[in-house]
Amino acid sequence: MKKESKGLALHWKIIIGMLLGIIWAFLSINFGWNDFTADWIGPFGTIFIRALKFIAIPLVMFSIIVGISSLKDISKLGRIGAKTLAIYLLTTVLAVSIGLLFVNIAKPGHAISKEQQIQNRISYELWVKSTNGAVEFKDDIRYTEDPQYAAIVAEMSGQEMVVDSEVAKVQEQVSANKDAGPLNALVDMVPENIMISLSNPKLMLQVIVFSIFFGICLLFVPTDKSEPVVKLFDGINEVFLKMVEIVMKGAPFFVFALMASKMSSMANTNAELVDLLASLGQYSFVVIAGLLFLILLYPALVSLIVKKIKYGEFWKKIAPAQLTAFSTSSSAATLPVTMECVEEKVGVKSEMASFVLPIGATVNMDGTSLYQAVAVIFLAQLHMIDLSFTEQLIIVMTATLASIGSAAVPSAGLVMLMMVLTSVDLNPAWIAIIMPVDRILDMCRTVVNVTGDASVTTIIASTEGELREDV
Ligand code: ASP
Repeated sequence: MKKESKGLALHWKIIIGMLLGIIWAFLSINFGWNDFTADWIGPFGTIFIRALKFIAIPLVMFSIIVGISSLKDISKLGRIGAKTLAIYLLTTVLAVSIGLLFVNIAKPGHAISKEQQIQNRISYELWVKSTNGAVEFKDDIRYTEDPQYAAIVAEMSGQEMVVDSEVAKVQEQVSANKDAGPLNALVDMVPENIMISLSNPKLMLQVIVFSIFFGICLLFVPTDKSEPVVKLFDGINEVFLKMVEIVMKGAPFFVFALMASKMSSMANTNAELVDLLASLGQYSFVVIAGLLFLILLYPALVSLIVKKIKYGEFWKKIAPAQLTAFSTSSSAATLPVTMECVEEKVGVKSEMASFVLPIGATVNMDGTSLYQAVAVIFLAQLHMIDLSFTEQLIIVMTATLASIGSAAVPSAGLVMLMMVLTSVDLNPAWIAIIMPVDRILDMCRTVVNVTGDASVTTIIASTEGELREDV
């Protein structure tokens, strides 16, 4: 491999940018520079995310089309497609199971005082009653009927249910999807108008379906007609890859801007920022421990299966993608960087990376599914509810589906968490409890999402003989 000739490697520069951003956030909060930070630094972070986003969608489209049209052998496409989906599904189920294991052992929801637990429990019971039979109790415990707690019950039932405006927004989105039929997910994959799909990052799956179909059809068109199209798209694809390279040169500064503005907008005082990080500490700790486990596991699996890639080496190669994921909280925005790392540094052939990675960015979210499993059980524990084995199995299923359905954008996992809560008859409005720390956990789970995609792509490429020898 070529040695980096000019000073520090990109990932170190990004890490430095990130740390400086966090230091700036503390200074900004301390010295009252938050307005300056929001007005003069924050916009550069937004520019970075926008640049990556406008590159991502066309890059996905052109690279899938070029990738498929260069495959020639259509049966190979089917085999790789099936393998890709199967392995992605497997890693997601593994992630949910690890999440469940960690949260059941650590029991972060039991860390609060007994009084607080009882109050939470009473609020849960009052909520179940307020649904008029739509939701059933999970057990026979009834604090609301115990005379000892009559005063608390009276006080709490007098309280109006205050619904956070953020929660209300999320609730609206969820109920919009609720009446959907069983085949709705399939219908949603088919674009109505490709221009509309191209203009919305949440519709990336539609762009993928369109591009796969376009690429396959290109294989069946006479060569004199298809060749100029492939050449043109190949050229356009190269231009987009060049754009990624150029944007990434500015990444250390952009990441500084992102961290500075996001962290300083989360709190008004240093104490609040520290509080925010410490509050929900046990829960965050379990989520982060689970995510760390996964992030250490993936490169190990890669180096076990792909003998020529050493453990530490894989980390180094995909670090720029991981750091971009951390600072943007979006696998979709990170996709161009992931593609560059996997193709240029890991050496996965372009036709393979351009097919497997975009699918991964949209359907494979291992960090998100792990977090959803931990969050649901934590929220149940906070309210003194024990979920049975069957209910935990339902969580494995719904968290898997929810992570597949989550768009690769910030906070998507939180929205889908409401579905998972609903699936086991818990109150979806509880997401408000974990909202304050969600942004930080979102950053962490996006890193795992991206690492999972890159690892699975490398493994599939190696089993298909699609790893280049020259890296
Ligand atoms: N932000 C995550 C992603 O883009 C999704 C989530 O909210 O968990 O991968």
